[in-house]
Amino acid sequence: MLNEQELDRYSRHIKLEGFGEKSQLVLKDSSVLVIGAGGLGSPCLIYLASSGVGNIGIIDFDTVSLSNLQRQTIHGERNIGRLKVDSSLEFLKQLNSDITINTYNGSIVEEKYHNLIEKYDIIALCVDDLATRYVVNELCLKYKKIHVSAAVVGYSGWLTTFNPNIANSPCYECLQPKVEVNIIKKAADIGVFAPLVGILGTWQAAEVIKELLHLGSSSVGILKTISILDGKVVDIKLSKRANCLCCS
Ligand SMILES: [Zn+2]
Repeated sequence: MLNEQELDRYSRHIKLEGFGEKSQLVLKDSSVLVIGAGGLGSPCLIYLASSGVGNIGIIDFDTVSLSNLQRQTIHGERNIGRLKVDSSLEFLKQLNSDITINTYNGSIVEEKYHNLIEKYDIIALCVDDLATRYVVNELCLKYKKIHVSAAVVGYSGWLTTFNPNIANSPCYECLQPKVEVNIIKKAADIGVFAPLVGILGTWQAAEVIKELLHLGSSSVGILKTISILDGKVVDIKLSKRANCLCCS
């Protein structure tokens, strides 16, 4: 049961068709690991926390810099130079003091953090680093964890959900085989349109919550691409590769 304060706080969720107190309780009992407290991680964390996900983990190795503030909205000017995990924790605590937040100052690529994937129910991958994407993909396959992934470069972005518990779900290696990677444009080199990062990070939070609650239709096997300049969202069907090095 939710207490009186929680019923009030989450009343707009509870009123939703297909949601109710039951779903809010599921969120309260859920845990989500957010990898990266940057552009995508900021809105993702904010909406997971405000929505009442009861246990949130944040892993990030970086510190806040001035050039982050254009799009990393969980951090502020007074946090420049501080660890992003500390800055995020400060913001989220004042947003929702009822939930548990654990922070890890490091990279998921480091072996000592690999078991974090096992500890949480769902993973939100909010980094723009390729090496991290491959490591998280392999760990999520190993521990059978869903991960919601997104990327933004320039004025374009994409989002998809990988679920190793579904037999025909592709994995990240199916989408982007390591051997075919030569040049992937990075946001640091060609820039990134700030509001689009907000859209995709928020969308990740929505997809995480949908997966936790089995709400609506899943984005497993669908690459949702968005081009913000012409306002187009296009779904591209993803298939599992028969010869995938990771999931076949
Ligand atoms: Zn695969």
